[in-house]
Amino acid sequence: MTTFNFCAGPAMLPTEVMQQAQRQLCDYNDLGVSVMELSHRSAEFTQVAEEAEQNLRDLMRIPDNYAVLFMHGGARGQFSAIPLNLLKTGGKALYIESGQWSVAAAKEAAKFGDVDVRDIRIGKGDIDLSLFGDTSGYDYVHYCPNETVDGVAIYDIPSCNSPLVADMSSCILGRDIDVSKFGLIYAGAQKNVGPAGLTLVIVRRDLIGQQHTATPAILNYQLAQDNDSMYNTPPTFAWYLAGEVFKWVKGLGGVAQMEQRNQSKAQALYQFIDDSSFYRNEVNPSFRSEMNVTFQLHDAELNQRFLAEAESQGLLALKGHRMVGGMRASIYNAMPMAGIAALIDFMDKFAQSHQ
Ligand code: PMP
Repeated sequence: MTTFNFCAGPAMLPTEVMQQAQRQLCDYNDLGVSVMELSHRSAEFTQVAEEAEQNLRDLMRIPDNYAVLFMHGGARGQFSAIPLNLLKTGGKALYIESGQWSVAAAKEAAKFGDVDVRDIRIGKGDIDLSLFGDTSGYDYVHYCPNETVDGVAIYDIPSCNSPLVADMSSCILGRDIDVSKFGLIYAGAQKNVGPAGLTLVIVRRDLIGQQHTATPAILNYQLAQDNDSMYNTPPTFAWYLAGEVFKWVKGLGGVAQMEQRNQSKAQALYQFIDDSSFYRNEVNPSFRSEMNVTFQLHDAELNQRFLAEAESQGLLALKGHRMVGGMRASIYNAMPMAGIAALIDFMDKFAQSHQ
């Protein structure tokens, strides 16, 4: 039986990457040691690190005036790092709320400085982009283009007259974007990039250097940049594996190709849900996430049975987040079309036998 893992994160990684990691696990490039046993300052790991950064720069067309930092602490670490590094003395930030994660980011930032919040949700699964409104006067504006829990996405990059900061934890490398429209992009790795433990930060260099004096060293962008992300020991194995994922994305044709695949996958699943009277998705179609497809069964009493039967068919981790309930299929870059086909087939059969 083929297993498909729909976990929101840590999420499935490309099978080819896992097989490559397995081949190299105990003996990296005939060195007789694993890549995770190498000094982060060794010539061999330096090559791994530099190659990963270059491949990410190529994939996202990251301009030279942006630093790429490989950090610790997950996206939540950045919830703290961003205000500590970007909020000027006496300054203010604007947080746009469109779902659970942007709300959490705003709450954390408010510990460190003056934060205004604008909620752009106008109903369950619907948002009004015009509510971004005037953003002048803020040190930065934070938003989350893909709300992993709610299954809500903002595809148009909002026009903004302050540096735009985006939490791309669950959508980085899923669509082609113009990095130059952002002041800072960050992402926990454990969805589209690699294993948990690594956090990517892509930041315009002129925004670096204004950190609060009490900023912990491991969250300090200046130190990270000046030390090539090796001020302290980086998560070397996660960095290596992310590099393998970047090679895999390149090998498949790059981010534009991923975008096409992701659109086809999401479209097939949403179409099936919309055509069914057994399942429903309540997000406005313009804001539906291609990465996290949430759906409800017409009778919530059947949820447990749905999950148990899905699992017995090798379809794992479909339970929705505890805050929203129902189901969620996370279908990041690594999920093949065959996984979507298997899920639709199962959902169809389940509906027929439980009408
Ligand atoms: N932001 C988003 C959009 C997420 O999906 C997540 C994790 N699911 C987080 C932040 C928190 O990430 P971490 O657990 O790496 O701190």
